[in-house]
Amino acid sequence: MSTYVEPGPVTRDDENPFESMKARFQVAAQYLNLEKGIYDFLITPAKQVIISIPIQMDDGSIEVYEGYRVIHSQVMGPSKGGVRYAPDVTLDEVKALAAWMTWKCAIVNIPFGGAKGAVKCDPTKLTHSQLEKITRRYTANLLEILGPDSDIPAPDVNTNEQIMAWIMDTYSMHSRRTETAVVTGKPVFLGGSRGRREATGRGVQIVTLRAMDLLGLKPEQTRVVVQGFGNVGSVGARLLYERGCKIVAISDISGGYYNPKGIDIPAAIDHVSRNRTLEGFGGGDRITNQELLELDCEVLIPAAREDQITIKNAHKIKAKIIAEGANGPTTARADKILDERGIFVIPDILANAGGVTVSYFEWVQNRMGYFWSESDVNQRLERIMLESFEAVLKTAKKYGVSNRIGAYILGVDRVAKVVRARGIYG
Ligand code: NAD
Repeated sequence: MSTYVEPGPVTRDDENPFESMKARFQVAAQYLNLEKGIYDFLITPAKQVIISIPIQMDDGSIEVYEGYRVIHSQVMGPSKGGVRYAPDVTLDEVKALAAWMTWKCAIVNIPFGGAKGAVKCDPTKLTHSQLEKITRRYTANLLEILGPDSDIPAPDVNTNEQIMAWIMDTYSMHSRRTETAVVTGKPVFLGGSRGRREATGRGVQIVTLRAMDLLGLKPEQTRVVVQGFGNVGSVGARLLYERGCKIVAISDISGGYYNPKGIDIPAAIDHVSRNRTLEGFGGGDRITNQELLELDCEVLIPAAREDQITIKNAHKIKAKIIAEGANGPTTARADKILDERGIFVIPDILANAGGVTVSYFEWVQNRMGYFWSESDVNQRLERIMLESFEAVLKTAKKYGVSNRIGAYILGVDRVAKVVRARGIYG
């Protein structure tokens, strides 16, 4: 790298994620000739809740955090979507994430609507007991909204199985019975599904291998770059590494590492499990999150936050395939540049749909009270990911549009059909 810049977290472009989502929705709606009323109905979030979360800190002082839950749509069934903890989260980001969940669930054909939640907080500065209090108060304040038949949270950035266990317990204490199906992404020993933790990364691996196949790329010739080394990024990297791809760069909030000979992914995972981040990993040369996106490689997997691929860097990206592990990593304005440059984009609402697919399996298993083997889960996941991949490509081809717009057309059309059949009450 020419000029050394201190590695560090990604900085986000100024494009608003909700506007980015809307821009693609508008294009899809035009192709579908969507009626104005259905258009307005589908673009407007069904419910937006902002709550205050007062917490007594360990020293007795009181801090007040802001929490959000946005239900974009319950047209297709109970709404589904993760909860993220981040200091810079905004309501518009949560609105975009909730809408993406609606289109994503429709693309993989699972009977859920879309939602998302967040708490504006920095989990790295909170103790275990403060995190527990925030999670329990967040859940308690949303009791009227959450429920196995109404709205079902899951993990997202900076939330994990432990946090899902606290959500499940808090909801269960209030409903006076153990209600596992109110949240997914729980530990396997308390009602979680085998394979859920790896599901999003596994889905990314499945669609990436399929795209590589279409482009005639063999794993041993494929250099992969991964931004974000959390649940999605680290599992996606490990599974592609196990299939023989060379992972040449990885990064997280502490910055990135580049090694043209290939990074030892199990060693990186081990480092993060002991140190929380990649800081001090030493398995390659240090690079910034921005430099990482422009590296020479065949596959780029953004798996951190929104607005990473923008009009500022889209023309510098060298990857042949972009598999969007993160939600919204590409701005709407950058879509055109990637499209013109012939980059094969596997859009977020398809690429990372493995997570919600296995969350659906978890919810089904909770309601059946019968648990499946890991190979059952993985086989069903693979079938759904491949079918959805083909359906998106077929739609894109039929309308002569990019994979991203193809995915929106497919998702929006399925939800619009159900709206017309159900009609508008009132
Ligand atoms: P995570 O908290 O497990 O990991 C996030 C990773 O991104 C970490 O390595 C973190 O250090 C890094 N990161 C966070 N902020 C960053 C910043 N500002 N700059 C650089 N790196 C940063 O979260 P996750 O569950 O892996 O989620 C990652 C993305 O995938 C998000 O966009 C999320 O919405 C999406 N996603 C997650 C799931 C899931 O099942 N967990 C499902 C679908 C989509």
